[in-house]
Amino acid sequence: MIESAIEPVVFRWHEAEITALSPVTPHVRSVRLRCSLAEAYRAGQHVDVRLTAEDGYQAQRSYSIASAQDGSGTLELMIEALPDGEVSGWFSHLAEVGDRVELRGPIGGSFSWDGPDGGPLLLGGGGSGVVPLLAMLRRRAQGWRQIPAALIYSARTRAEAIAVAELERLAEADPNFSLHLATTREPGGKRIDAPLVADALARIGAPGKVFLCGSNRFVAAASDLILAEGVAPGLIRTERFGA
Ligand SMILES: Cc1cc2nc3c(=O)[nH]c(=O)nc-3n(C[C@H](O)[C@H](O)[C@H](O)COP(=O)(O)OP(=O)(O)OC[C@H]3O[C@@H](n4cnc5c(N)ncnc54)[C@H](O)[C@@H]3O)c2cc1C
Repeated sequence: MIESAIEPVVFRWHEAEITALSPVTPHVRSVRLRCSLAEAYRAGQHVDVRLTAEDGYQAQRSYSIASAQDGSGTLELMIEALPDGEVSGWFSHLAEVGDRVELRGPIGGSFSWDGPDGGPLLLGGGGSGVVPLLAMLRRRAQGWRQIPAALIYSARTRAEAIAVAELERLAEADPNFSLHLATTREPGGKRIDAPLVADALARIGAPGKVFLCGSNRFVAAASDLILAEGVAPGLIRTERFGA
């Protein structure tokens, strides 16, 4: 039902105007856009973004929506600057408030969550793969905090972890949410491992939904660890950012 309600808007491009830009980490920028799609998506979904140069050259990439619907008529993306990245480079270094781009979507109905879908929720994000999971947690915070949720988050360093302060505040204030951060490139850091996954599962009990997002390598490692803990494969939804 939801898919068919959303489908007609997915395949056409919608004008969007940048209303705010702000740093999230040294390499990730928050981009808030005013767009008619802002009232028509589920947490976890992504949009295609199309840039058009003055000479007509176009480039298009996918970006997860970081915000949960809030009635503001805007949505938020979080874009990591990749070395020599065509589209991420434009958003990170050249974009200004008032610039216009085009969005198409929302896309990814199966990788999405809303409160009535229930839980417990086991979320796993690698790097900027945490963005759609952040949207799910923001949605959960709008009135579904009774649903247990745990986020396993792998980032290079704490400074590079997206929205870490928001996630830590949430974990402190909300006994039904726990954050399990693994930093891979700082002293004493480590990759996600069996004890970390077991700890997350102990906090929420048997998960009802599992969402994993990140690089192919992260998603494969997280899936293996979660399956080894006895979670049924059919519960796991994955999204891969490439590379
Ligand atoms: C469903 C989906 C959701 C996504 N959501 C987000 C998001 O929320 N935030 C975000 O920052 N990105 C996200 N991405 C990745 C995004 O679509 C682009 O791939 C990324 O921004 C690179 O595009 P670019 O034009 O800057 O780089 P390009 O000019 O295409 O490539 C520049 C260099 O980066 C390498 N590269 C390309 N893509 C990646 C990648 N994903 N990871 C590492 N290296 C790469 C290329 O091999 C090349 O060497 C998402 C991708 C998918 C498929």
